[in-house]
Amino acid sequence: MKTEELDHAGRTVSVLRVKGSGSDLLTITEKGFTGMRMEDLLAARKIGSLDDIAMMEYLNKSKIDPSEPAPSVETFLHAFIPFKFVDHTHADSVVALTNTDLKDETLKKHLGNVVVFPYIQPGFKLAKAILERIEEVRKAEGIVLRKHGLFTYSNDAKDSYNKHIEIVTRAEKAISETTKGALFTPKYKESHIETAEFLPKLRGIVSGISRKVLEVNTSDSALEIADSEEAEELCKYGPTTTDMLIRTKHDFLYVPETARISELVEDYRQKYAKEHSEYASSYPMHDPNPSVFVIRGFGIVTQATSKRSAKIIMDDAVHSLIVGAKSRKLGKHEFVTRQEAFAMEYWPFQEAKLRKHLPGKFQGSVTIVTGAAAGIGLEAFRTLSMYGSHVIAIDIDPGISDAGKEVFEESGVENLAVRADLSNEDQIKEAMGLAVSKFGGVDFVFNNAGILKTAPIDLIDASEMDLMYRVNARGTFLITREAFRIMKMQEMGGAFVFNITKNLTNPGAEMAMYGTTKAFAAQLSRYVAKEGGKYRVRSNIINPDKVFRGSKIWEGGVLESRAKAKGQTVEQYKTQNLLGVEVLPSHVVGVMMALLDDSVFGATTDSMIPVDGGIK
Ligand code: ZN
Repeated sequence: MKTEELDHAGRTVSVLRVKGSGSDLLTITEKGFTGMRMEDLLAARKIGSLDDIAMMEYLNKSKIDPSEPAPSVETFLHAFIPFKFVDHTHADSVVALTNTDLKDETLKKHLGNVVVFPYIQPGFKLAKAILERIEEVRKAEGIVLRKHGLFTYSNDAKDSYNKHIEIVTRAEKAISETTKGALFTPKYKESHIETAEFLPKLRGIVSGISRKVLEVNTSDSALEIADSEEAEELCKYGPTTTDMLIRTKHDFLYVPETARISELVEDYRQKYAKEHSEYASSYPMHDPNPSVFVIRGFGIVTQATSKRSAKIIMDDAVHSLIVGAKSRKLGKHEFVTRQEAFAMEYWPFQEAKLRKHLPGKFQGSVTIVTGAAAGIGLEAFRTLSMYGSHVIAIDIDPGISDAGKEVFEESGVENLAVRADLSNEDQIKEAMGLAVSKFGGVDFVFNNAGILKTAPIDLIDASEMDLMYRVNARGTFLITREAFRIMKMQEMGGAFVFNITKNLTNPGAEMAMYGTTKAFAAQLSRYVAKEGGKYRVRSNIINPDKVFRGSKIWEGGVLESRAKAKGQTVEQYKTQNLLGVEVLPSHVVGVMMALLDDSVFGATTDSMIPVDGGIK
C-alpha cells in the first residue's frame, strides 16, 4: 500500500508499506510491514541494473525506520506498479496453469485481461522487466508471472482484491473444466509399512551434517499420492514456486521400497553435489540430503533441523505435488531450468530467511525426560526446549499436559507431553512409539523420574518395595531399552543421563527401598555405557542431593522428617554441605545439559558427577 506518513523529523513523506521478507501472512501484524520511502524507490527506475548485494543495500537505505524487517525482494516491483494498492500471491491454481507449456494466448483465454511474463528471478531485474511494459500493465487487470504467481492492483483496495479473487476463480474454473477425473491414478495398493521399522533409520541417514527431525504425513491423501502412478514423475517436477527451493530443494525423493532407502539417498546426494558444483560452486554446499520423501505404501515424510521447518516443508511439498498433478493434466509440465533452480536455492536473499533461525547446539534433537511435570524434570524439560530440543515429556501426573503447553508457549519448540506410568510396559512402548512417529527418533534420555518412601529395613512393606522397584528400577530399564533400540537403528550416537542421587555413594537413613532401586538404575547406566560405546551412545550418572524446589518427592512432611532425623532445622538441612549453598534444580539441569553435549562431554561415558554442594 502506498500512503503518506510523518517521518522522524515530522515531514510528510510518501511511503510504501510492503511485507517484510520471510514473515508469515497467517501471523503477521502491522509491524511485519516495512515502510519504504517511495521517492527513493522510484529514483531507482533510472538505474540500469543492481546486483543482489547492491539491491539489498539500496533497500536498507530506503527504509523509513531502520529497525523494521528487511522488505520483500519484490519491493521495487510493488513500487513501480503505478497504483496505490498491489496484491500479490502464489495462488496454487494460477501456478498450476503457468507451470506448463501453455501459450500466453491460452493463459489469457483462461484468465482474462492479464499481462503474461516469462519466468524471471525475483529482484531488481524482474521489477525492471515489468517497468518496460508498464503501459500494458496499466491497462490490464493483472500480471501473471510464469512459475511464480499473480499481481493485481488498483487505487481502491477492495477493487484490487476483487480482481485477484476473480482471476484466481477463473484459474480454478479452467482447471476443473480441463482436468476431468481423479488427479492421481491408484496403482500400488500395498500393506501399511510399520513406522518404527524405518523412520529412525531414515532420520539417522539424513542427520550426517546436523541433527534432523521428521514430519510424517500418513493421511489418506498423502497415501493416495504416494501410491499413485504419477508419484515418481511428480517428484522430479520441483516445487510449485522457486521461493520454496531453499527448503524443499528441486527434487523430492521417491521411495518405492524402504529397504532401498540408504542407497536412494546416497544417489540423491551424489547427484545434488554434482549439480551444486556445476551451478552454484561459488557458495558452500547446502546439506545435500533430500528434504521430501514420497514413500510408496506409507505417505510423505519431510526432514529439517526443526519441527517448525519440517512442517513448512510438508506444506510446500503437498501443495507442490497437487499443483504438479494438475499441471500435467493441463499441458506438458514445465518448471525453471536446473540452473535457475540452483540460482534461486543459493540466492543470498533466500539464505537470509533461514539465517533467522540459526541452529543451536540442541536444535533438531529429540530428548526423553521422565518425571517432567515438576522439579528437576520440569526444569530439564524447559531448558532443553529453550535450546531447541524437542522433548518427549513423560509423567504420571496429569499436570504434564499443562506443562507441555506452557513450555511450548515459552520456547516455541514443539514437544510431546505424555501421561504414562513408568511401571506399565505398554504405556512406555506407546510413548516411545510417539517419539518416532512425531519426530523420527531419539537422541537423548534423561532418566529422572523416581518415587521415594522411607522406612527402616525391618518395617519395609513388600508391596511398597515392589512399587518402588517397578518405577525406579524396572520403569527406568524399559525407557532405556526402548530408547537404546531406536538409537541403534539411527546410527547417530546418543546420550543418557541417569539421575541417581547421592544415595548411591552416601546412603541416607531409612532409604533402603529408594537406594537399592536407584542402585539398579545406576548399574544399568554402566551397562548402557559398556554396550553403547560402539554405537557412540554415552551414559553418565548425576548424583544430586537435597534438591527441594518444585520437587514432589520431599512433599508431605518428608523434608521435615529428614531434617529431624538429622537433628537439624529445615534451613540447616537444606544447606548442610561444604559450599553451604542450596542445591537448585538449575544446578542439576546445567550438569545434565553439559553431559548431553558432545562438544563438552563427548569423550566421557560411564562417569558419575555429584551435584550436592560437597558432602561434609
Ligand atoms: Zn512472489
